[in-house]
Amino acid sequence: MTDITLLPSVVDFLKQSHGQYINGQHVKTSSSKSLEVFNPATGEIIAHVHKATDAEIDAAVQAAHTAFHSTWADTSPMQRGDYLYKLAELLQRDREILAQIESLSSGKIIQLSRFLEIDQSTQFLKYFAGWSSKISGETLNVSLPSFNKEKYSAFTLREPVGVVAGIIPWNFSIMIAIWKLAAALTCGCTIVLKPSEYTPLTLLKLVDLAKEAGIPDGVINIVNGDGKEVGTRLITHKLVSKVSFTGSVATGLIVGEQAMHSNLKRTTLELGGKNGAAFLTDVSVETIVNGIIEAGFLNQGQICAAAERFYIPNDLLPEVMDKLAVALGSMKIGSSLDETTQVGPLANKMQKEKVLSLIEKAKSEGNKIICGGHAIEGAGYFVAPTAILANSTQDTLMKEETFGPVGTLIGYDNENELINMLNDSPYGLSASLWTNDLSKAYRMIPKIEAGTLWVNMHTFLDPALPFGGVKASGIGREFGSAFIEYYTELKSVMIRY
Ligand code: NAD
Repeated sequence: MTDITLLPSVVDFLKQSHGQYINGQHVKTSSSKSLEVFNPATGEIIAHVHKATDAEIDAAVQAAHTAFHSTWADTSPMQRGDYLYKLAELLQRDREILAQIESLSSGKIIQLSRFLEIDQSTQFLKYFAGWSSKISGETLNVSLPSFNKEKYSAFTLREPVGVVAGIIPWNFSIMIAIWKLAAALTCGCTIVLKPSEYTPLTLLKLVDLAKEAGIPDGVINIVNGDGKEVGTRLITHKLVSKVSFTGSVATGLIVGEQAMHSNLKRTTLELGGKNGAAFLTDVSVETIVNGIIEAGFLNQGQICAAAERFYIPNDLLPEVMDKLAVALGSMKIGSSLDETTQVGPLANKMQKEKVLSLIEKAKSEGNKIICGGHAIEGAGYFVAPTAILANSTQDTLMKEETFGPVGTLIGYDNENELINMLNDSPYGLSASLWTNDLSKAYRMIPKIEAGTLWVNMHTFLDPALPFGGVKASGIGREFGSAFIEYYTELKSVMIRY
């Protein structure tokens, strides 16, 4: 099979030189440095994006601040929701354009760009749109006795927190940006987004749809560049009230500290982990093999909630290894723009090198390579789907996030040992439990340390369910009704009459 034909508007878009999006305009300071955007399937440069200057970052924040106090403050909650519904509609209209740009620049296979980045984002937009008219405080009864027969009334207001800085990783550049911008906008906040320096393109297209949807200028802004300079200037800007960060634990620690020291900015940190999937003795080998592929290998394993540690009953382990090797070995590796590809490239060269060096580390620790364990010859950032058998829970691959197509298996003998091994991690973003015995599952659920726990499934994010990590996987929750707490301030009002 061959690559799909790029749409003419995608070809035109790639030829343009790009920069920032500030107050409803695409702008660039031509003297600024430019970021090179690569096609991970070929290693070729496909576009250039100017890095934001300090003045541009300041202008973006100022635009968001002005809009927060003017146009957006004057927009009714229902109208805010309508804008998001309209954006959802336009996202569907331009589904293929955005999906092609995303696949070209991130390596995500085209089917996944369409389904997860566009279709799922559309659903999230609609979900958040519905909240705009339902965010409110409550009326309270004053509890203390009154003096001199005075009367009191009291209520709370849920007020938007202000300008949000949204820092986005490279693995889902549209979807994670939508999570943040839709949550911010529905609550009445405005936002400045900083995409990853590896995947800056798709959001620059998305903002044109936001403008067409009628969202006032300044409500959504984008600054591009690296984290250290552009990210830091953005999150420490005095007019930014909240930082919503998604990325690695290492960067999250830096960002959290910076936000804390920058006037105690409200901060949510959605970080990585080393998620576990536990298969109980009653499930079939076929379920285990399919479960490992579902939980660990979607988007080449570059999903924060994907599983990387797999716990298998010892007596099933030999057969699971044999069948997993066959299943992973037969997956079709290829260009992200080929409709038949099942495994695309890793998103960037750095990620490929990181994954390969962790595989080497596993080999040096005496772990058995069940299948894969190497790069794919030729251009692009491809790594073969890899399964590894660990010797001990202390091995590097049972502890460090690879964020690649690598699943590490280990056997266990009993369920107490299983729970202990599953919880033996400084992280806790997600986990999954696979069993036909639901009463056993219900008993095990409270014992598992994870922000999201799936039973007989993995990596399914629903907008109605709060999402976030326990332990070092983060602070705060997105989605559900839980997000409201993180994008609003609660004001208590008491009146004497
Ligand atoms: P990263 O931490 O390297 O970068 C994330 C973003 O932070 C980028 O935009 C980067 O430019 C910016 N950044 C880097 N240093 C910064 C600094 N000092 N100040 C401000 N911003 C800075 O992460 P990544 O490699 O892009 O993404 C992969 C990681 O993200 C994985 O660890 C994955 O688990 C995690 N992730 C978590 C979630 C979640 O919802 N919990 C979702 C997706 C990805």
